[in-house]
Amino acid sequence: MDTIQHNLGIIHKRIKAACQKAGRNTSDVRLLLATKTVDSNRIKMALQLGESLVGENKVQELKQKCTDIKELNPEVHFIGHLQTNKVKEVLKWASCIQSIDRPSVAEKLHQRLVFEQKEVDVFIQVNTSFEDSKFGIEPDKVIEFVKEVAQYKNIHIKGLMTIGLLSSESNQVRKCFRLLRQLQEEIRELNLPNVEMKELSMGMSGDLEIAIEEGATIVRVGTAIFGERIYPDSYYWNEKETVK
Ligand SMILES: *Cc1c(COP(=O)(O)O)cnc(C)c1O
Repeated sequence: MDTIQHNLGIIHKRIKAACQKAGRNTSDVRLLLATKTVDSNRIKMALQLGESLVGENKVQELKQKCTDIKELNPEVHFIGHLQTNKVKEVLKWASCIQSIDRPSVAEKLHQRLVFEQKEVDVFIQVNTSFEDSKFGIEPDKVIEFVKEVAQYKNIHIKGLMTIGLLSSESNQVRKCFRLLRQLQEEIRELNLPNVEMKELSMGMSGDLEIAIEEGATIVRVGTAIFGERIYPDSYYWNEKETVK
């Protein structure tokens, strides 16, 4: 408990300082707890300390964790790579899917929502770092894709999500976040029906300050709150390995 409390204190200070530097209100940036590999008890601790937004990558971990933490009423987002055959399961637990990144998954989601007479919020995930290993739609295809998804009436687009370049060169990281912001503005100007572009989900443990300076409304933090993970991130971000 102590470590999580201590770490959360540091994260909130970092968020506050970055907001001040950027001339933004601290309340305009939400902290999402990135909970992959974190057990339910530790997630609960963070929720009991006042956090309210949880993001999970692994479909297999959603059910158990969501059942365990339900009494604390968190808002749950799905932030992992989504396979079409897992859409049904994700819809049971998450109110928002931040990782919509290709037509096949949007179409499958639409079909399922119509069948269940349900609606869901989504973010479009963009590959702003141009790395092959990262998921996300390519930046020059985003607008076309947003128009396509917007036609599905049960899917509500709320914004964009990206994973910035994992690099110590802050200018290269900043470029990713700036690109996401530019895409947000381009899409906003189109005034598409069924598309809100208020949210920018970007920034993690190592780069949240840069993301906030570039306009993030949600930062997704795991390691800096819960400690190092035992699996490398490629385990979550690499298609072949996540199929297991
Ligand atoms: C793991 C993960 C995070 C959090 O990364 P940390 O570096 O541990 O803060 C954020 N977003 C996504 C999509 C993730 O998979």
